[in-house]
Amino acid sequence: MAYKYVDNYREQGARKKLVDELRKKDIQDEQVLQAIGKVPRHFFFDETFWNQAYKDIAFPIGEGQTISQPYTVAYQTELLHIKKGDKVLEIGTGSGYQCCILVELGAKVYTIERQQKLYERTKQVLPRMGYKPKFFLGDGSKGLEAYGPFDKIIVTAGAPTVPEMLLKQLNIGGILVIPVGNEELQKMVTILKTGENNYERHELDTFRFVPLIGGPLTP
Ligand code: SAH
Repeated sequence: MAYKYVDNYREQGARKKLVDELRKKDIQDEQVLQAIGKVPRHFFFDETFWNQAYKDIAFPIGEGQTISQPYTVAYQTELLHIKKGDKVLEIGTGSGYQCCILVELGAKVYTIERQQKLYERTKQVLPRMGYKPKFFLGDGSKGLEAYGPFDKIIVTAGAPTVPEMLLKQLNIGGILVIPVGNEELQKMVTILKTGENNYERHELDTFRFVPLIGGPLTP
């Protein structure tokens, strides 16, 4: 079944402007920008709010849920250096917007969400838009051991610490991108797995995500 909305010239134009805005905000990866230029973000909004869909802001989309700010999605995606065919784990499916960007880049995406309503809604909606990742319901802070290891792991909720289980489920050469901090503010952290027990860690800019809920939650 096709999705109920259409992607017409007005939305396509607004999307182009968003891409230009992200480029000015120093998103440099042209493939990431192209993916943002392809995914119809207004499909995630009620029609009443389509005039908000291509602003660079986060927005409430129901179920107490927020669709992430395009800049944040682009920023995290850029850090993942996705190659076609990469096996990617996304923790925090939410609206599914970030997931669509990863699929556009040619990743094989495994996405996990802990809220059942969101999980069910996104699992229905994304395939109708033409995006077919694998959906899971559960606590993503433990990763997805049965399906690992992964080339890339992206956490789209703020974590108090880097969950050990996620590091274990990375391939050597793999990258984890995760916001780490308290409930107010988090630093974007990238971890490159350089050997079985060796990691290279970088701390980048500050963001504000909704909290990653689930163990381990010790500081
Ligand atoms: N990637 C989403 C943004 C999601 S906001 C998008 O593009 O819209 C963060 C999401 O993480 C929320 O939906 C929240 O329910 C979910 N979440 C929080 N803790 C989680 C956990 N331990 N496991 C899986 N999902 C979690």
